[in-house]
Amino acid sequence: MLKKVLIANRGEIALRVLRACREMGIATVAVHSEADNDSLHVKLADESVCIGPAPSPQSYLNIPALIAAAEVTGADAIHPGYGFLAENADFAEQVEQSGFVFIGPRPETIRLMGDKVSAKHAMIEAGVPCVPGSEGALPDDDKEILKIADAVGFPVIIKASGGGGGRGMRVVEKKEDLLKAVEMTKTEAGLAFGNPMVYMERYLQKPRHIEIQVMADEQGNAIYLGERDCSMQRRHQKVIEEAPAPGITETERRKIGEACVAACKRIGYRGAGTFEFLYEDGEFFFIEMNTRVQVEHPVTELITGVDIVQEQIRVAGGAALQYQQKDIVLQGHAFECRINAEDPYNFIPSPGLIASCHLPGGLGVRVDSHIYQGYRIPPNYDSLIGKICVHGKNRQLAMAKMRVALAELAVTGIKTNTPLHRDLFVDNDFQEGGVSIHYLEHWLEEKKAQAEK
Ligand code: ADP
Repeated sequence: MLKKVLIANRGEIALRVLRACREMGIATVAVHSEADNDSLHVKLADESVCIGPAPSPQSYLNIPALIAAAEVTGADAIHPGYGFLAENADFAEQVEQSGFVFIGPRPETIRLMGDKVSAKHAMIEAGVPCVPGSEGALPDDDKEILKIADAVGFPVIIKASGGGGGRGMRVVEKKEDLLKAVEMTKTEAGLAFGNPMVYMERYLQKPRHIEIQVMADEQGNAIYLGERDCSMQRRHQKVIEEAPAPGITETERRKIGEACVAACKRIGYRGAGTFEFLYEDGEFFFIEMNTRVQVEHPVTELITGVDIVQEQIRVAGGAALQYQQKDIVLQGHAFECRINAEDPYNFIPSPGLIASCHLPGGLGVRVDSHIYQGYRIPPNYDSLIGKICVHGKNRQLAMAKMRVALAELAVTGIKTNTPLHRDLFVDNDFQEGGVSIHYLEHWLEEKKAQAEK
């Protein structure tokens, strides 16, 4: 059993990990940049270490500083949260080589799944259905590229093998634009991810984003915890998530869940992970795996009762999973709204001082947030300031609960995207359920056009 965990992150996820540790009787070490001296996770942790100035390359991405912090505080493990170094195989490796437990998969697994071309390859071998596309990375030869595109069928999407966070992707509608798009994506990928390799997929027209949560231990056990629907996206970034996904049958769930579990066993997966799929016309197509806890993990926790972060920590400490597949029973429906410090309609970040803050509550309402009255949101990091989650008996009741929670939420001094969420939770199509990944973008365009009239 682990005794002291260093949390290599900030914001709401640092707090989430901290709470999990405290409930388990594990001591916590917070690390923070100079911009985060007043952060809640720093105040609540047993110990804290300042690891550098505000820019993340000098603090939250500073591997030597993080390892030194673990050494001086005598931590025995490091939880990376999500973002920052969570999917950095070199970090995981250095953590282990320095004698600490990395709360996550083995470095080799992170490396394998972090490269989308090798990840897809591994999934094809494991029998997980993938989006039709190029077999591996695109070659340099123009004629070959054109041939592959013809076989895949337009429109296609060019994706960076090392991409992430919705970046490094380009949709190509017609053949004339293909070679230029490939060239541009390669250049961008080289600059942004240090890896110019790109691959091609058929661009699905009206898919939904549905992902499967898995957990695995070192004893060779693996389970799936149902799915989440994360189709409400803007610029390939999730805005609202829900579980279960509307309209997915028990048979479909079992089939895709079992395929993911088989893949976990095959690659020797350890800890929490997510298989992301596009879902269209009753078919699942794998797009990527996230080898970490995700922002939207609470909706799964709400419908399964499994504390995913505690389970990650237990497994990292060498324990077997507490649950077997038969123990995972989905109950009710859950939603999560990502609350960002940004203008609700033009999305310009809005950091600054929180003048006042009232967070919602009540039965079935969960708020994961690090903000408080008087807290100053630094301009240096992601704009996520919290997550409002609800759990109801069914989808309709959960929606009603979310409407009430959003009505109660009141943050002043900065702008938040709360008005956008309020509008979406009374939108007819979203209430109906099962919208595609393009729905929100179209909805925003329409709204803009109406406002300009
Ligand atoms: P990232 O790692 O940057 O999140 P993903 O491969 O997970 O990249 O894709 C992110 C989003 O991009 C998906 O949720 C989906 O909205 C869109 N997308 C990716 N691949 C395709 C595709 N083949 N067809 C249509 N949309 C896609």
